Formats: sequence, C-alpha cells, structure tokens
Amino acid sequence: MIVSFDLDDTLFVSENKFKTEAPLKFPKNIIYKERLRLGTVGLMRYIREQNIKLWIYTTSFRSERYIRGLFKSYGIVLDNVINGEKHAKEVQAGHAEGMPSKYPSKYRIDLHIDDDISVYQNGKIYGFNVFLVGGQDDEWSQKIIHEIERIKAKKN
Ligand SMILES: [Mg+2]
Repeated sequence: MIVSFDLDDTLFVSENKFKTEAPLKFPKNIIYKERLRLGTVGLMRYIREQNIKLWIYTTSFRSERYIRGLFKSYGIVLDNVINGEKHAKEVQAGHAEGMPSKYPSKYRIDLHIDDDISVYQNGKIYGFNVFLVGGQDDEWSQKIIHEIERIKAKKN
C-alpha cells in the first residue's frame, strides 16, 4: 500500500493559522524553514510502522534531496518523492492533452492527501482516492488513519 502527501498547505502550513510541530534545532532550522502541521510526525511514524510506503507528491520544484532531508531531520524516512520535475517527466511527457495536476493512479498510490479541491475532484474523475485536508483540525491525522484502514480493508 502507498500513501502520498502534498506539501504546501497540507503538511507545510503557516504557523499563524495552524498548530505546528516544533521547529528544528539550529542549524537545521536555517536550512529547513517550513513548519509542519501538528500531528505530521506521529501520522508518518504510524504509516511507516504499518509497513505502508510513504511518499511525497508535490507539484512544487523543491529538490528531492531537500524534501528527503527535511523529513529525515524529523526522523522520517520517505520511500519516494514526486516533485514538479518528476511529474512533468513521468506523467505529462508524451501527452499533448492536459493531464491532471497530480495523477496518483499512475504511481499506484492508494491514498493521496491534499488541500486542493481540484485534486480531490480529479480523483473522482480519474478514479483515485484523495483525502482533502483544510484548516486547523485537531482530528485530521486520526481521520486519515481511519481512511487508511478503510482502504486497506477493501484491498484485502
Ligand atoms: Mg497544496
């Protein structure tokens, strides 16, 4: 099973609007300035403990090395990273017609977590599972665990 996360406004959030994980200690906090939505570390740990593959799927052009390094600093190992560059090469290339901004089914991703309603709507059209996150919600990670359990049960 593979679960992927968007970054901007999904895991990387504004500390003015959201409860966030503690910042990294110096000097990592100079390299990695983004703040993680509170609960991200626990949720990702849970996913790894369940032997579920943990991916990042972002349309941003942050490098894979940067993204991996940031999560590694929180003790989280990522199984794969799809960034804007990889998506352009692996999903969009060879298609004259527009492809969806994210195409999790291309990668056999079982559940993708995102804040973008259009990604959610594309999931309905193209047939992939998207869990939509919004504003501050103390229960968000619990809801995702629920959704993972539901999809896992369906697969077996
Ligand atoms: Mg986003």
